[in-house]
Amino acid sequence: MAIFATMLLNNKYEAVIGLEVHAQLQTASKLFCGDSIAFGAEPNTHVSPVTLGHPGTLPKTNKKAVEYAVKLGLACNCEIESYNYFARKNYFYPDLPKGYQISQHTTPICLGGFVKIKTGEGERNVQLNRIHMEEDAGKSIHDRDDDYTCVDLNRAGTPLVEIVTEPDLHSSEEAYQYITELRRLVRWIGICDGNMEEGSLRCDANVSVRLKGEKKLGVKVEVKNLNSIRNVKKAIDHEIDRMITIIENGGTITQQTRSFNADDDTTFSLRDKEEANDYRYFPDPDLAPFHLTQEYIQKIKSSLPALPNQLIHQYQTEFGLSEYDAMQLCDEKHTADFFQSTIQFTKHYKAVANWITGPVRQYLHEHHQSFETIILLPQTLAALIKIVDDGKVNFSVASSRLLPLLMQENKDPLQLAEELNLVQISDSNELETWVNEAISKMPDKVAEYKKGKKGLIGLFVGEVKKLSKGKADPKIVTALLQEKLRQ
Ligand code: ADP
Ligand code: MG
Repeated sequence: MAIFATMLLNNKYEAVIGLEVHAQLQTASKLFCGDSIAFGAEPNTHVSPVTLGHPGTLPKTNKKAVEYAVKLGLACNCEIESYNYFARKNYFYPDLPKGYQISQHTTPICLGGFVKIKTGEGERNVQLNRIHMEEDAGKSIHDRDDDYTCVDLNRAGTPLVEIVTEPDLHSSEEAYQYITELRRLVRWIGICDGNMEEGSLRCDANVSVRLKGEKKLGVKVEVKNLNSIRNVKKAIDHEIDRMITIIENGGTITQQTRSFNADDDTTFSLRDKEEANDYRYFPDPDLAPFHLTQEYIQKIKSSLPALPNQLIHQYQTEFGLSEYDAMQLCDEKHTADFFQSTIQFTKHYKAVANWITGPVRQYLHEHHQSFETIILLPQTLAALIKIVDDGKVNFSVASSRLLPLLMQENKDPLQLAEELNLVQISDSNELETWVNEAISKMPDKVAEYKKGKKGLIGLFVGEVKKLSKGKADPKIVTALLQEKLRQ
């Protein structure tokens, strides 16, 4: 953002942002028929007569999609509507074969609610307006043929939820945190893969500015179809900047629909929005309204996993982890699950956290694996932690020599260490020989140490380590050295 506009934004203006996020539900089939929703299939292969909107076909609501929408609503603290129906939203578009989109209109399945975000300024709840269900349209492809636009209807009828916030965000940073959190949430509860590049999560950003202290909302623009979280942030920054500059130059903002240009991080107008379109909504006569009982909602509620914010809190208060560690572990659910399983086998919470967020994650990253596909078993990691604790191997040997092998095949870590001759020697007779040798090698350092340069202890320990080829237990060696050098 230009410095000029940033200054004014801080002192004179306030930005107001509301986000509309479409999330594609991870069901096996479409919202109203059995066609697969798998991404990347040959164009126009998942297109039954229902998808194509042929006369006489009858849609039928996908129960799993309803369940997923309710799941999300509960995870976002929404009120769940018990009486629901679908409406037809009529408009013509080449990739909308029926001539109308089936959507919820006046009865969104989830009302209100909030998503907790954390920014540099602390935690706050971003208020939601609603979450409703609708079907996706197909895809028009403009860059495949010089003369024609092609259409792929595989996506037509894919189940979506649209999550709409109140105009409750006030900076691009808050918007960034909100989408990041929402993406983690939909992945966490397993209703959407959150993949923005493939369009499973798409965001429209509504932006306006107003003078600080002003209650009335300013005229907004809507920036459509932002396909990465970074682009959401950039588009908002650009809009705030553009609007403040217009107002400062005596102009007025027109209500517009705009699009983001990722080549130069700017936006351009698609159309002016003078008045609302008349979509002639009416309840779809082919689809029966559906009632959700309290019992049904309760059942879904009890099937929800513990949510990331809950776990972050629990890991700090119950297990004494730092906020940073807790947040790292809850970055995505498979990591938290792995932590959760490992602490069934050891109570060294801090060590488990360190291993998971350190060497284990690093290995996975380097080998293009994840906590979802990890081979290492939680009990193997717990056993590895135990032999380090017992002083059988030191941490650096355990992480650099044993872990890479255990990441490929689970074995008893102690046995493996023995096989590889990596077990530390803690027998003091054997250690004493090395300690004596180290001391006799460096008489001048010994004199310095005795004069008070206690920091030299590390040098002697290092020498013993070298002499023992890394197998001397440094704790015992240190104690032995201190005793000998005291004389
Ligand atoms: P529309 O009918 O144009 O889609 P809605 O009232 O349904 O508008 O709101 C769409 C989104 O725009 C919501 O997220 C809402 O919070 C946001 N919004 C509405 N008015 C403003 C405004 N003046 N400035 C910023 N965001 C706004
Ligand atoms: Mg809108």
